[in-house]
Amino acid sequence: DGMASENNTLVFKLDYKCTRNPPADGSKHGTVLSKHLVWQPNGSTYPPDRPTKFTSFGRPQSELHDFSTRPPAPTYPDITLARLRPGQAIELEVHAVKGIGRTHAKWSPVATASYRMLPEVVFRKPVEGQMAEQLVAKCPMNVFDIEDMGDGIQRASAPRARNCTVCRECIREEGWGDYIQLRRKRDHFIFSVESTGALPPSVLFTEAVKILEGKARRLATETDRL
Ligand code: SF4
Repeated sequence: DGMASENNTLVFKLDYKCTRNPPADGSKHGTVLSKHLVWQPNGSTYPPDRPTKFTSFGRPQSELHDFSTRPPAPTYPDITLARLRPGQAIELEVHAVKGIGRTHAKWSPVATASYRMLPEVVFRKPVEGQMAEQLVAKCPMNVFDIEDMGDGIQRASAPRARNCTVCRECIREEGWGDYIQLRRKRDHFIFSVESTGALPPSVLFTEAVKILEGKARRLATETDRL
């Protein structure tokens, strides 16, 4: 419903005053660190002058999950957030809100994602001798090798066809298309998934497939009804 509750929001408070005396916790004078963000299990304390706060927690988060034994905190405590001079201060609240990418891209755990079909490099005719050497030299992706077939025959092979970007350089010159055919396997997809860090790419992929599966099922059910 869009309300910030104990189930979807973590609140941290930063209240740092730089005085003339060095801080008692041994941190560098005037340096605001990530460890100075203090978890607020009861939610927001802002606005201080109003009874309704920015969050509405039904119960303290310290009662939830394993927060009582492992209270939420910045993963890295020593990240410098700001440097202050004596007399300066920062007071703020940080709200970490859990959401999904469909609501807003800021919640998407996926960075760049793409797919391509598995390339196939097929020899229509054997490429041998000098032509085999030329072929190896043509390919920028190092797809080809030369195999010794015995009897002095050197024949080109394509052991790294997966690397092929289908740049077509190997068949660009007149006549080479008679020797080599570039194809894509229509039922073999190679995915490349970059994560923002929230979930490992392998989990992102399997979760995405589950969603796709659900959509396909829904579509099948809906079409059955027609
Ligand atoms: S299309 Fe390009 S990458 Fe693929 S085999 Fe030919 S030269 Fe190499």
